[in-house]
Amino acid sequence: MSDKIAAIATGHARTGIGILRLSGDGCIEAAGQVFQLQSGKPLSSLPDRKLALGTLFDVQGRPIDHCMAFISRAPHSYTGEDTAEIQCHGSPAALAAGLEALFAAGFRQARPGEFTRRAFLNGRMDLTQAEAVIDLIDAETPAAARQAAGQLNGALSRQIDSIYSALTDLMAHFCAVLDYPDEDIDPFQAEQMGQILARQEAALQALLATSRRGTLLNQGITCVLIGRPNAGKSSLLNALAGYERAIVTNIPGTTRDTVETKVTLGGYLFRLVDTAGLRDSDDPIEQLGVARSRQALAEADLVLAVCDGTQPLTEEDHDLLREALAQADTILLANKRDLPDFALPQPAANDAPNTLTVVPLSAKTGDGLDTLETTLARRAETLLPQAAQSAAGELLTNQRQTQAAQRALDGVTRARDALDLGMTPDALLTDVEAALEALGELTGRTVREDITARIFSRFCVGK
Ligand code: GDP
Repeated sequence: MSDKIAAIATGHARTGIGILRLSGDGCIEAAGQVFQLQSGKPLSSLPDRKLALGTLFDVQGRPIDHCMAFISRAPHSYTGEDTAEIQCHGSPAALAAGLEALFAAGFRQARPGEFTRRAFLNGRMDLTQAEAVIDLIDAETPAAARQAAGQLNGALSRQIDSIYSALTDLMAHFCAVLDYPDEDIDPFQAEQMGQILARQEAALQALLATSRRGTLLNQGITCVLIGRPNAGKSSLLNALAGYERAIVTNIPGTTRDTVETKVTLGGYLFRLVDTAGLRDSDDPIEQLGVARSRQALAEADLVLAVCDGTQPLTEEDHDLLREALAQADTILLANKRDLPDFALPQPAANDAPNTLTVVPLSAKTGDGLDTLETTLARRAETLLPQAAQSAAGELLTNQRQTQAAQRALDGVTRARDALDLGMTPDALLTDVEAALEALGELTGRTVREDITARIFSRFCVGK
């Protein structure tokens, strides 16, 4: 028996339409106490998924909205349970009054993600699909939404299931020969098993190779801004973000910590990180800032090295450039182009001048930001090819998925090595079992409560 849960699924702002979402055994009959059909028939007389007009009442039985509702009976619903939705006008007051009436009718407040959690527990979707629901809600670019929609549609699950099923078949083979554990595996059979393992190993490697693209798509391409104090890093971050996110002053060293913001440029999501500088300092707070900046640089997918174009490049600029180039693809931004003594900087021979793109711009006037946007979009295209995005939904998009896939791969590789070394079947069995368990964790077939709790804690109420 599942208890009856209710939530406002559309948030608490004034909206055109607001939805009260309900699920659980007996929820349709209980909702009928709060929502009465215009036809005078009970709510439970409605066919599944057919919108019908009616009246919503508050806890004292007073009408608070004329609106629509529909029901979906178990198991053909999002949660797999009896469900109902009441689609009201989006007044936070009316929705709250409706929710209160539902509580009086035996519902309790749904916890964040509880509808999707029930969908998962009732086998309506696997864990990667549940994660896709939240990724879709959080998607910041159309490409990220497409990826999440594909994953929700089961694109990733199908790939994992195919590997899972091949390995399960292999287990059956092993179990057949296990009755004679001391005997070597028949060479013909060993070759067949080896081929199956090699195919699954390749499939898992291909899956793991998508993980960087998946992370970049969902979390953004990490673009780290470095440069001498006063070069205009904070101003540039603000100009790109279109709002004042970092403190801009003319006192060198104002940004003591890393500041980050997400922006969409040319259809790609970028995570811009402003750094405090990389210069060694005696000040313990500045030292902390420098340590964070170095860490940010180490995580950069792209570096934006900012220099003040009104001054020639200094030794410190060259050092910064070299440090950046050693870490990641770097673009040199010559700032303050609006000032009369601006001149294009001359990178030194060991700044890799032939490959270094220099973009002159002004963070103050916005001049040159369009060129920077095009340059960034072009770099993003190489990191996240549009063509590759057509296989939407087939990318690993978070650490949990990547770690589980890696463990599965390790298990398969160990099993293949063991087979090559002529080990007995029971030795291989353990490794394939470990791979299966990791794949099971990935899709939620073998549920770990701590993992599911962490996943569903990312959700909002009503989803
Ligand atoms: P940061 O230390 O590198 O983060 O530099 P800030 O963004 O704090 O800028 C330092 C100073 O340079 C501030 O006074 C800014 O107003 C000024 N500044 C930044 N960008 C430009 C620009 O493109 N043109 C001009 N004229 N001044 C700028």
